[in-house]
Amino acid sequence: MNVLIVFAHPEPRSLNGQLKDEAVSHLQQSGHQVHVSDLYGMKWKTVLDTDDSLAPLRGERFNPSVDSRFAYDNGLQAADIAAEQEKLRWADAVIFQFPLWWFSMPAIMKGWFDRVYANGFAYGVGEHSDHHWGDRYGEGNLSGKRAMLLVTTGGWESHYGPRGINGDIDDILFPIQHGMLFYPGFTVLPPMLIYRTGKTDDAKHAGYRQQLTGRLDSLWDTEPLNYRRQNAGDYEIPALTLRPDLAKGKTGLRIHFQESD
Ligand code: FAD
Repeated sequence: MNVLIVFAHPEPRSLNGQLKDEAVSHLQQSGHQVHVSDLYGMKWKTVLDTDDSLAPLRGERFNPSVDSRFAYDNGLQAADIAAEQEKLRWADAVIFQFPLWWFSMPAIMKGWFDRVYANGFAYGVGEHSDHHWGDRYGEGNLSGKRAMLLVTTGGWESHYGPRGINGDIDDILFPIQHGMLFYPGFTVLPPMLIYRTGKTDDAKHAGYRQQLTGRLDSLWDTEPLNYRRQNAGDYEIPALTLRPDLAKGKTGLRIHFQESD
């Protein structure tokens, strides 16, 4: 299988860097092909701007969606964007690895999504009408591929529990897992989370490595997060609100999981 690791940490010798190296060697030893997009190492351009299209502006002012679409459709995207899209096409599974920074991914990875997820590639896919609001949330160009987050935190597991001060980690990761991975079609696996990294010692480090290799060995048969698909009948069209008979009386992020009924 082909595995892409999109990696965001500025220090190769960090805990994240070591775990990424472990992942690469374990996957290769297991017979998989691996590519790493090491965003800091590549000096990834973080901001989406007019340099992302090789074509003249389509209108009088820059419109990120419109200009992205034209560049995508006409083979006029910046080379670094096209190269990352090609890696995504190649991959059977993608691991996004990062330390939690301010309750999200480091800016360099957000910039990867802003730029690589072009109009026509990750959004604006399929019919858009009152009857069908695009191929997304379970459908799209990345469907059939698996994705998993590998995230480290400074905070404790209890800080991220259902009643923890930081908020539930499932809620914190929802915009990434549902909004950025499920949206263009990925099958999203439960994340691998390493909490309280400041307390890492040799024994914990060995445990993380063991956990990681276990997750990699089960990449192909781990049960995915059971998000509701947009176009499978659960949402009313065109409002795209959950049908009132599903997750009855409930609101919030969790209603978008099938088991919330
Ligand atoms: P490192 O700092 O490289 O290592 C962590 C520990 O592991 C160190 O003590 C190191 O000595 C030890 N270690 C490394 N390798 C080994 C080894 N081989 N054997 C034994 N021990 C080892 N945390 C949150 O919870 N929420 C946030 O919102 C948040 N925001 C942040 C924002 C910023 C800008 C920053 C800088 C940090 C933030 N943090 C936050 C903390 C951050 O998530 C952690 O610092 C990060 O996850 C640690 O990962 P690392 O790879 O940088 O670890």
